[in-house]
Amino acid sequence: MSFELSREHEEFRRSVRDFAEAEIAPHVAQWDRDHHFPVDVVHKMGDLGLFGLTAPEEYGGAGLAPEDGPFTSLCLAIEELGRVDQSIGITLEAGVGLGINPILTFGDDAQKQEHLPDLVAGKLLAGFGLTEPGAGSDASATKTKAELVDDEWIVNGAKQFITNSGSEITSLVTVTARTGTREGGKPEISTIIVPSGTPGFTAEKAYDKLGWHISDTHPLSFEDAHVPAGNLLGDRGRGYAQFLAILDDGRVAIAALATGLIQACVDLCTSYSLERQTMGGPIGRKQGVAFQIADLEVMLHASRMLTYRAAAMKDGGAPLKDFKHAASIAKLYTSESAVTATRIATQIFGGYGFMEEYPVARFYRDAKILEIGEGTSEVQRMLIARGLGLPVE
Ligand SMILES: Cc1cc2nc3c(=O)[nH]c(=O)nc-3n(C[C@H](O)[C@H](O)[C@H](O)COP(=O)(O)OP(=O)(O)OC[C@H]3O[C@@H](n4cnc5c(N)ncnc54)[C@H](O)[C@@H]3O)c2cc1C
Repeated sequence: MSFELSREHEEFRRSVRDFAEAEIAPHVAQWDRDHHFPVDVVHKMGDLGLFGLTAPEEYGGAGLAPEDGPFTSLCLAIEELGRVDQSIGITLEAGVGLGINPILTFGDDAQKQEHLPDLVAGKLLAGFGLTEPGAGSDASATKTKAELVDDEWIVNGAKQFITNSGSEITSLVTVTARTGTREGGKPEISTIIVPSGTPGFTAEKAYDKLGWHISDTHPLSFEDAHVPAGNLLGDRGRGYAQFLAILDDGRVAIAALATGLIQACVDLCTSYSLERQTMGGPIGRKQGVAFQIADLEVMLHASRMLTYRAAAMKDGGAPLKDFKHAASIAKLYTSESAVTATRIATQIFGGYGFMEEYPVARFYRDAKILEIGEGTSEVQRMLIARGLGLPVE
């Protein structure tokens, strides 16, 4: 058993950190104020190979073998981007986990050939539309419908809160939709690829969000949107199982994003506490401050361990039940720790922590969504309890 990253992983982490410090950190406060989605940075992330870490070479990906830890690499990249800015981190997380992954995992050869090269290169982005106005935690309550008429699916319905779904480089969204009713009355749910620009498909005005200002998030509407029958992703009726699998990986990636945020809090609070003087000395001399930073450091180490372990389980092909359990535990602990860490960091910065010119204010706003997206904390607790055999509803 090793608790260390490989030399290759450490070097890779360093390269992403250098990129984030050079290309993102100097501009991020302004982008956040302007709610600006920096397409050129997405392209540069593509040039660095970040969107292709888990993809095979034939689609332009890194072609890493499982023993090279492709998913761990993706988590490291998300962590390092998230340490500088959470919106850029989620753009990569959603771009790979929700955009590329469904097509890579469930797509047929034609769909992969058509869509993956540009997504893997970071030239284009794809969104994953699961959540609806009446179906979030209970995603099986989806009302969006897709009806097969002759050789086309006709999609009607609405999705909400969909990341990377309406940017100028968004090429498609995959959406879950009811395609029929099973025996016993349960809905048959399938996943359909809807290209941007399809008549009847609209990415509505971007949301005005508490945080993640740089990230692209839209409500989507579908009014008689026609797409070819071949846009069905994977087998008809497998949509429910597909999105559960997609979300398992996504939870570990969100844990990596949270870990990056906690690292940022440790770094910022440590340097500020050495610098900021009160009552004749730096605030870091006071136990009341220093002990809080010590607690942040403990959260950081625990978060990193839970995240890397879950990522290593994915790379190593651990039994699905064990991986799901580890993914939920990592997501729950790290996201709640990130919210606590940003609250502590803002407190340590005092009044300056409430000012947008200091990154802790942005981090405080950005943290909350980590407890909500890709399954709320309550949903994670439900899954963890069920994993223990408890009959929780
Ligand atoms: C910025 C942002 C980006 C997002 N990106 C995407 C995306 O790209 N694709 C996508 O499909 N979705 C996306 N989402 C949606 C996100 O996954 C959902 O918001 C989340 O799953 C919660 O669903 P909901 O908002 O409908 O809340 P609800 O399900 O209505 O939950 C409301 C509250 O009730 C609690 N609750 C619900 N059911 C239970 C239960 N059984 N037991 C205990 N408590 C329960 C919840 O935990 C929560 O506290 C995004 C959301 C945001 C805000």
